[in-house]
Amino acid sequence: ATVLPKMVSGEWMGTMNLTEPHAGSDLGVLKTRAERRDDGTYRILGQKIFITWGEHDFTDNIVHLVLARLPDAPAGTKGISLFLVPKFLVNEDGSLGERNDVFCHSLEHKLGIHGSPTCTMIYGDGKFGREKGAIGYLVGEENRGLACMFTMMNNARLAVGMQGVAIAEAATQKAIAYAKERTQGRAPGWSGDGMSPIIEHPDIARTLLTMKALTQGSRAIAYACAHAVDMAHAAQGEDARQWQERSSLLTPIAKSFATDAGVDVASMGIQVHGGMGFIEETGAARYLRDARIAPIYEGTNGIQAIDLVTRKLPLSDGAQVRGFIAELREVAAAVAASNREGFGETAARLDAAVADLEGATDWLLSRLRDGKLAEALSGATAYQRLFGLVLTGVYLAKGGLAEAGDGGQDRRVALCRFAAENLLSETSALKDRVVNGAASLAAARSILD
Ligand SMILES: Cc1cc2nc3c(=O)[nH]c(=O)nc-3n(C[C@H](O)[C@H](O)[C@H](O)COP(=O)(O)OP(=O)(O)OC[C@H]3O[C@@H](n4cnc5c(N)ncnc54)[C@H](O)[C@@H]3O)c2cc1C
Repeated sequence: ATVLPKMVSGEWMGTMNLTEPHAGSDLGVLKTRAERRDDGTYRILGQKIFITWGEHDFTDNIVHLVLARLPDAPAGTKGISLFLVPKFLVNEDGSLGERNDVFCHSLEHKLGIHGSPTCTMIYGDGKFGREKGAIGYLVGEENRGLACMFTMMNNARLAVGMQGVAIAEAATQKAIAYAKERTQGRAPGWSGDGMSPIIEHPDIARTLLTMKALTQGSRAIAYACAHAVDMAHAAQGEDARQWQERSSLLTPIAKSFATDAGVDVASMGIQVHGGMGFIEETGAARYLRDARIAPIYEGTNGIQAIDLVTRKLPLSDGAQVRGFIAELREVAAAVAASNREGFGETAARLDAAVADLEGATDWLLSRLRDGKLAEALSGATAYQRLFGLVLTGVYLAKGGLAEAGDGGQDRRVALCRFAAENLLSETSALKDRVVNGAASLAAARSILD
């Protein structure tokens, strides 16, 4: 009641404090300490790094959510608790009180997102002249902090996926605008005076359409995930459980596929600009620099792939993912049944892509059953991309099926067909990498020594 309304209204901002110098992907080893006090509060002592918006003067107060360990906590992730630590303590009447014992020690110098301060935070240094230890309030139960943090992290993963979508969309719009203006050479079939706009060159048009397909596919995956999250809240009983599982399955794909797409599309955008893409004044380079963080934070995309393979595929003993794949196949069948010429080879390509996904899924589930974890993990990232590509094809097809088909130009059908006939063939290579890549990876590992 004291804090949340002010955060929702934007009067105060918040941070998530997980990372420490030696504890990034593996939070089980974090060292920040929490000590119990007689008045029910806690004292927090330690160092956090890479904290987004850890310090700034945009709002009067900053509410830090901090993971820390109690003295008698069990080792590993089961001994982590979550604390709310305001920059300024809050008086009973809601006014701001004393400065809490937390401060920003330094700012990171980064590749991109220069509008976002990334801070090293020190808790409990005694800098403000009081007893050492920032005053913190427990959120949820002691030693259950990671579960609480995951409520936020699952939302944050989807939101970071949307950062990827947003950057990809911006990069695509900028590249299309440039390609219409910039003239160079004469494209095959160009009948205008002088040089043609570069958008007329097949290579540029293919690049722009790839950018558009990856952007729209990523957006659709993120929306499908958001829809599943909403349904999990709105539905009851078994339905709610099913939607909860669906959102769990989609979250790592939404995070990883969309953020990888952000980087890939921003890079393609630079290519469309030619040399001007490498020059700061066009703004194309900034998209790439800003996009590059999204596959790293909120759990690296490699960690998302591990989550997808080891925790999400086994949901309901594989029934969740199998049910989902059956739904994807229905979309391919609906495209075939639509008999719309504009879809070209889409139905057959979708069918083949879904079969690749199914084959890779079965293989991974069998490796997990047999305890062959290293084999399963060797192909986890390839599998994650395979899943995202299949979903891109399927969701673009759903968009095409929803289009009126009234004789005007069916733009969604055209994009869907482009993706099906130009991008989806990658799924068979990805399946091959999942199923056949592990042995050579294990054999070659020692050459890295
Ligand atoms: C700009 C920026 C903002 C950030 N904002 C925040 C924030 O607000 N709050 C916060 O708490 N943190 C924040 N972070 C930290 C971020 O979440 C971590 O950097 C990220 O989780 C990765 O941890 P790490 O850097 O320690 O990399 P590491 O964990 O050391 O990983 C290095 C590489 O090894 C891989 N790897 C690690 N473990 C495994 C494994 N078990 N299996 C396979 N591969 C593995 C990773 O995928 C990665 O490729 C931010 C980071 C940056 C750069």
